[in-house]
Amino acid sequence: MSARAGIVVTGTEVLTGRVVDRNGPWCSEQLRALGVDHESTVVVGDRPADILAALRWLESEGCSLIITSGGLGPTADDLTATVVGEFQQRAMAVDEPLHARITAILERLTARWPSVDQASIAAGNLKQATIPEGATILEPIGTAPGLVVPPPEGSTGPTVVVLPGPPSELVPMWQAAEQTQAFIEATAGRVPIEQSMLRLFGIPESEIAATLRSAQAAGIEVDELEITTCLRRGEIEIVTRFSPDQQELYDSFAEFVASSHADTLFSVDGTTIDQELAALLSGPPLRTIALAESCTGGLVAARLTELPGASTYLRGGFVVYSNEAKVSCLAVPAALLEEHGAVSEEVAVAMAEGARSALDADVGVGVTGIAGPGGGTEDKPVGLVWCAVSLASGELAVRKLQLPGSRQLIRDRTTTVVLHMTAGLLREGSQ
Ligand code: ATP
Ligand code: MG
Repeated sequence: MSARAGIVVTGTEVLTGRVVDRNGPWCSEQLRALGVDHESTVVVGDRPADILAALRWLESEGCSLIITSGGLGPTADDLTATVVGEFQQRAMAVDEPLHARITAILERLTARWPSVDQASIAAGNLKQATIPEGATILEPIGTAPGLVVPPPEGSTGPTVVVLPGPPSELVPMWQAAEQTQAFIEATAGRVPIEQSMLRLFGIPESEIAATLRSAQAAGIEVDELEITTCLRRGEIEIVTRFSPDQQELYDSFAEFVASSHADTLFSVDGTTIDQELAALLSGPPLRTIALAESCTGGLVAARLTELPGASTYLRGGFVVYSNEAKVSCLAVPAALLEEHGAVSEEVAVAMAEGARSALDADVGVGVTGIAGPGGGTEDKPVGLVWCAVSLASGELAVRKLQLPGSRQLIRDRTTTVVLHMTAGLLREGSQ
């Protein structure tokens, strides 16, 4: 037996896509870590009938736990607590001690805005303190309390955990929710689930499908594992979920992938290429890096600076769109541009070397290409990109790409390729 859970994400802004759902995926990961089987996430607008229908459907699917996010605020469109009360057949009542605690929070908050309408604050406060009878309160992080609402007396229906919408409130409240008696009882059947990820680069998805078949043929029972492959940013992620007693089976599968794809497997523990490159640059030995980007317009710099600590190794980057900028910022010879054009091997190398010397770095990166949709010619079609990585020690890596897809895809894919090329060159050097 395992415990099954469903998630109901509420909010018209999430339903319409104005706000991207961060709560569903985050809660899903928490459930997985606990060993609770996450069945579905249902996204509904701020309509009581739709929230109720979602709860009923997840109950009919056999969920013993349902998490809701959103709709706990003080305004009339925040309806989740009332709907959950109705679902669990529990009367709504003001919890006086909670009312007093929210009042204290509000007094602190409204002290800064003396002109606010006290009557509407009081009404909102009373609404937020009105909760289903028998619910466990999760102390507010903002002003909204979370709730753990058990099924009606004598019923075997699901327990509902009601959490606020803002991720900054939902995340810290989760731990308290997990520790309540009702949550523990609702997830009593949970079994630990392991999850591991392999990452490969430069290999089509179809080859992974073939590898899975060969592994099965070689006697590794991959069908027993829950394996999903997903192509993301030009990389393949193989995510496997398995129970702890299948560890040996998983290890044989991972070894099989490693031996079949030694040249393209770059991560066996979920580490991203961004993290690996950061580690290679940080050293020891520390290696500083400088960038010269044309068609990626700073995307490589953005990826590098996403990780904290980038200032130790990133000297800086140039976004050099025009020929003039390539000449004046990077000392790319004008004659080279004239002779080979801006999108060429020679210019990519000169950009990498120019960035490296301009910023006195150990590693220089140059990217130049045609992201489209216009600007392509027969000789140099849209999607043609030259990437160069140059090390102060003299090593050089150059790649010509011919990428399919939209402007966004071409720029994004190029960025990933450049990170892999740089890591590849540094990896070789450190062996
Ligand atoms: P509030 O007291 O702020 O009204 P609430 O519990 O009623 O809190 P919502 O009104 O549903 O929550 O959402 C408030 C804000 O929180 C949204 O406008 C949005 O910015 C953010 N938010 C809500 N749900 C999500 C979600 N699933 N993913 C990401 N952000 C969300
Ligand atoms: Mg709200």
